[in-house]
Amino acid sequence: MSNKQRDENELVLVPLGGAGEIGMNIYLYGYGPKKNRQWLMVDVGLTFPGPEEPGIELIFPDISFLQDDHNHLVAIVLTHAHEDHLGALTELWPMLRAPVYATPFANALLQGKIASYGTREEFEVTEMPLGSRFDIGPFDLEYVGMTHSIPEPNALVIRTPEGTIFHSGDWKIDPEPVVGALVDEKRLLEIGEEGVDVLICDSTNVFKEGHSISEGEVAKSLAKIIKNAPQRVIVTAFSSNVARIKAVALAAKAADRYIVVAGLSLWRVITAAKETGHLPDDIDFLDQDQYAHLDRKDIVLLCTGSQGENRAALARIAKGEHHRIKFAAGDMVIFSSFTIPGNERSVGGLLNDLSDGGIEIVTVANELVHASGHPQRDELKQLYKWLKPRSLIPMHGEFRHLREHRKFAGENDISRSALMTNGEVMRLLPLDHKDGPLIKIDEVPTGRWYLDGKTISIKHEQPMRDRRKLAFVGLVVATIVLDEEDNEILDLLIDIKGIPAEISEKKPLKEVIDITIEGTLKSLPKKKRRSVETASEAVRRAVRAEIYRLWGKKPECIIHLSRV
Ligand SMILES: [Zn+2]
Ligand SMILES: [Zn+2]
Repeated sequence: MSNKQRDENELVLVPLGGAGEIGMNIYLYGYGPKKNRQWLMVDVGLTFPGPEEPGIELIFPDISFLQDDHNHLVAIVLTHAHEDHLGALTELWPMLRAPVYATPFANALLQGKIASYGTREEFEVTEMPLGSRFDIGPFDLEYVGMTHSIPEPNALVIRTPEGTIFHSGDWKIDPEPVVGALVDEKRLLEIGEEGVDVLICDSTNVFKEGHSISEGEVAKSLAKIIKNAPQRVIVTAFSSNVARIKAVALAAKAADRYIVVAGLSLWRVITAAKETGHLPDDIDFLDQDQYAHLDRKDIVLLCTGSQGENRAALARIAKGEHHRIKFAAGDMVIFSSFTIPGNERSVGGLLNDLSDGGIEIVTVANELVHASGHPQRDELKQLYKWLKPRSLIPMHGEFRHLREHRKFAGENDISRSALMTNGEVMRLLPLDHKDGPLIKIDEVPTGRWYLDGKTISIKHEQPMRDRRKLAFVGLVVATIVLDEEDNEILDLLIDIKGIPAEISEKKPLKEVIDITIEGTLKSLPKKKRRSVETASEAVRRAVRAEIYRLWGKKPECIIHLSRV
């Protein structure tokens, strides 16, 4: 390779999602000269809508950057099966059209979801054994087994002719993961010996001192609580946490109880975990049909809904709306989970519903019933020690996490690091580039795409603004038919949505609007009345002004004016 050619080849990183936020991870690694790069996509995650996105089902990163023909995507590689890492794949694949690689559990869960919900277009997934090393275009890739809160969490080593990246994925160091192998320490040491130029690393728990709690510790604690429970025990957890499912099942068995499962997503995970050997075949999970036939003292119920989701099993049971499962005073509900920021209200409502029914509630606030799947400071330090990275880019965190992670790495002898935000193009390699490493060289469009019903909405600003507006101020629609000759009103239809009838004490609201319309049309000079646009606009303004006078808020107002 000539020197000039070598100069031109570089490795860049572009996060399309996941930098400065926890959710919708998509990391693009591009290799080659600027005009002709080959792109590798690591993960295709989604995020969930909040109150600012009424009516939206899911949110994906904007991938329009890859729709440009020059940007050749060579592969999509998945690190693990959490929704924030693979949840957008079935919706976005038709716009990406690249081969997909995943380890067996992620593939099994993906196939289970496709079987339940379908996919926009069928695509192949190449299933890679754990620890695989394989070449894709200019990238020499290797899966390295970590531990997390789902089976088969993988870090990804990305070797290029310019150097090596260690992309951590989501991880922790769990000495007793309950499901799956320990972190592959031997391999990590070897990779560290070989040399890691840039560590791209999980920042979720960088503010927490010490070491994360092991799944094994949680399992022991759950077993004790379940053993001592006087009546029914209900456990709700994140459905993808197979270690927790196994821990609850074993605790039930040890307490001579049956385990009953309610919630489709739990069944999907159990099926995928059994298929891939992460749950023993001999654990007998009973369906909710069996619930009513069993004695209260003989049941551990595992169900979905730890975040207070309205449609999930637990909320429906708590409200007495579940057709098969009922709780009674003295039963115990264990929240083997934490509340995701933003869900406090719905979880609070659920806790109140349960308390109201005389249910005993156990959460992380009073017992050891949950552990995070992300590394705390001692684990980050341990990984630095194994890998000895020459530089670091913090990922999987809000800006405060990324900033803190950078500071923490600096205190631990990683002096070279950089912060990235979505859409920034950063040159990672060569590390000895004349302009220095980790330099921002470009920017690409980023943003959010919305799954709205069945449609992926790209230009969503206006509809979303309209929806928020309608939710706040309501709507008036008036259809006015005028006589062609003398402009008398022949017909007038008024529809009102979302405006309280009490805004006028004296007259019904319809009549108020009716009078306003008639008055406005009468007061218009003849010439202005003849123009449909001018007359409509005058009426619209007058109706909004009158309602504002009475109500203090201006509604949306649509006027259809025609002549016969
Ligand atoms: Zn994640
Ligand atoms: Zn994860």
